[in-house]
Amino acid sequence: MTTQALINAYGERALTLVKGAGCYVWDTEDKKYLDALAGIAVCGLGHCHPHVTTAIKNQADTLMHTSNLYNLSVQQKAAEDLCRVSGMEKVFFSNSGAEANEAAIKIARKYGCEKGIATPTIITLDHGFHGRTMATLTATANPKVKHGFSPLLEGFIHLPFDDINAINALEGDPDIVAIMVEPVQGEGGIQIPADDYLPTLRNICDKNGWLLILDEIQTGNGRTGHHFAYQAYDFYPDIMTTAKGLGNGLPVGACLTRGKANTIIQPGNHGSTYGGNPMACAAISAVIETMEQENICEKVNALGNYFAKGFETALANKSQVKAFRHKGLMIGIELDQPCPELVQQAAEKGLLINVTAGSVIRLLPPLIMTEAQADQVIEIVASLIH
Ligand SMILES: *Cc1c(COP(=O)(O)O)cnc(C)c1O
Repeated sequence: MTTQALINAYGERALTLVKGAGCYVWDTEDKKYLDALAGIAVCGLGHCHPHVTTAIKNQADTLMHTSNLYNLSVQQKAAEDLCRVSGMEKVFFSNSGAEANEAAIKIARKYGCEKGIATPTIITLDHGFHGRTMATLTATANPKVKHGFSPLLEGFIHLPFDDINAINALEGDPDIVAIMVEPVQGEGGIQIPADDYLPTLRNICDKNGWLLILDEIQTGNGRTGHHFAYQAYDFYPDIMTTAKGLGNGLPVGACLTRGKANTIIQPGNHGSTYGGNPMACAAISAVIETMEQENICEKVNALGNYFAKGFETALANKSQVKAFRHKGLMIGIELDQPCPELVQQAAEKGLLINVTAGSVIRLLPPLIMTEAQADQVIEIVASLIH
């Protein structure tokens, strides 16, 4: 089933999905698929989690939109919930990940402006991904994302990922105001930096008066086994952005700040008609409540390790496999050649997966997946690899 009425931004799409529940979705032929992608790390609590669905339904019956000209108790509650689980201090709500990063970039630029820097510059990393708006595609190093969209913005430098020397080489550059980095690169192929990389970036930022911006749009909301990935360490970012799993399917994003980043945005500097809308905020609070009630982070750690063990055995004799990487339930299997055809082959066997960075099978299963379902994922994925 296709239509001519959509701009062809996404290419040919083989499946038409009509319904979801927990870790499963169904197509128009009523064929059932085990979902190991969760709407690209969005439906962490599974499809149509009853607690989140009920919260959205109740909010739709009560108040759907007012704009940000008025106080909203659901918005205040969602902000407080988010600060509590993250240790951050203030929240700006957006409607998507890219918009959350736009807010972060604006804060970093105004921070520079207030220090008298005329051309504030943000360091971002090779193979990172920060979104598709003009500022966020400029922040994204991948030339494919930028191609055709010049003129781009000024004020971004790309450096190699997981390379402290490359950052150190820019110490003392008077234009640098921030480093923006994903704790684990998602679109870049589940790239996990050395254990001391992020804490070292924190130190470099402190020493130079730069802001540390963590893009937790994909890594956040339990995905890596902590509510946010930096909570595995003993530091806070100055700015953290999140989206994807934040609303379990409602389109929401958030830019959170701490310390000196808290007061840079003043009335009139930034805004969004929909940002922090009652429906979005009801979903955010329901997701956080459910994550706490169901001990989701603990489950993610256990299931992530279960997947790793299972794949270790299942992939042991596969010559195509170059590397297996995982952090919680961000799972990447890098093959020795591009493998986009595996997506369709998996779907034929009733499994939804993704391939990113050309040759990396990416699994982002719902955080509530059972071990029996994980066994099925491992079995099907292994059957596609030689
Ligand atoms: C998905 C993603 C984005 C973009 O989010 P959108 O909601 O698609 O705008 C930005 N950064 C990272 C790390 C992402 O994974």
